[in-house]
Amino acid sequence: MELDNIECVSSSDGMQDEEIDSHHPHQSSSKTHVIPSGIAPATSVHELLECPVCTNFMYPPIHQCHNGHTLCSTCKTRVHNRCPTCRQELGDIRCLALEKVAESLELPCKYYSLGCPEIFPYYSKVKHEAVCNFRPYNCPYAGSECSVTGDIPFLVAHLRDDHKVDMHTGCTFNHRYVKSSPREVENATWMLTVFHCFGQYFCLHFEAFQLGMTPVYMAFLRFMGDETEVRSYSYSLEVGANGRKLIWEGTPRSIRDSHRKVRDSHDGLIIQRNMALFFSGGDGKELKLRVTGRIWKEQQNPDAGVCIPTLCS
Ligand SMILES: [Zn+2]
Ligand SMILES: [Zn+2]
Ligand SMILES: [Zn+2]
Ligand SMILES: [Zn+2]
Repeated sequence: MELDNIECVSSSDGMQDEEIDSHHPHQSSSKTHVIPSGIAPATSVHELLECPVCTNFMYPPIHQCHNGHTLCSTCKTRVHNRCPTCRQELGDIRCLALEKVAESLELPCKYYSLGCPEIFPYYSKVKHEAVCNFRPYNCPYAGSECSVTGDIPFLVAHLRDDHKVDMHTGCTFNHRYVKSSPREVENATWMLTVFHCFGQYFCLHFEAFQLGMTPVYMAFLRFMGDETEVRSYSYSLEVGANGRKLIWEGTPRSIRDSHRKVRDSHDGLIIQRNMALFFSGGDGKELKLRVTGRIWKEQQNPDAGVCIPTLCS
């Protein structure tokens, strides 16, 4: 997973990719496969590994029929036990030799077109892709199942145009949250504002939920970027009235962490409903919270990137 310590540029992540042993003791099947005349001679291993049905790259398990025609595991489930090439019964034969070849090949990360330069053997590639910094982000809008993904500029435009989210420039804010029926916490009322400062985008969430038996309101900030960049930023939130004040100071969470995950870890300003209604003044029936906040960039160590001995062992 990600490193905890990003100060140390010199440290390697210690996750050397496993060398895949190509001299595997498995002898390839002694059966000789006659290459059917219908198949043009393969000019590269990559072509051999192309599924003849869907043309995707084949990864283990790779299947073959009694005549040696290969196909990928996705296609195998679709062809009703008939080899799509020779129409014979397919059976359940794996092509171990080809699987070994597939495992040993180095392949580009699937986010190659989004800028990732990494190349890996298959299994490392799958692991990497789950955490690749170039993988698209999910839409950070909470409260609906939005399936839109993309890079940050795309998502900012999407939030503004499709979710009609308030956009705000600057690193301080002063927001008023007004809700006439603050007792409805079941349907998690929520609001989202996008802040643009330091050339970055941040999402301020505000919502209601049931924390155990207690209805609460919660505000927290998420950073539209990766975990590795988020550590340079901090934020504070303040809410209060009538001589009382709650202050939260924290580090924004990356939008890689789902909205629900952040909420469930209570990583933000939590205001109990009674207190929130007290802060709202009036007759305590309506929620009228003034939340002020600030985002700042942590002072970078002038020797940033240099290993601090006590931190890097
Ligand atoms: Zn296929
Ligand atoms: Zn066949
Ligand atoms: Zn990648
Ligand atoms: Zn969306």
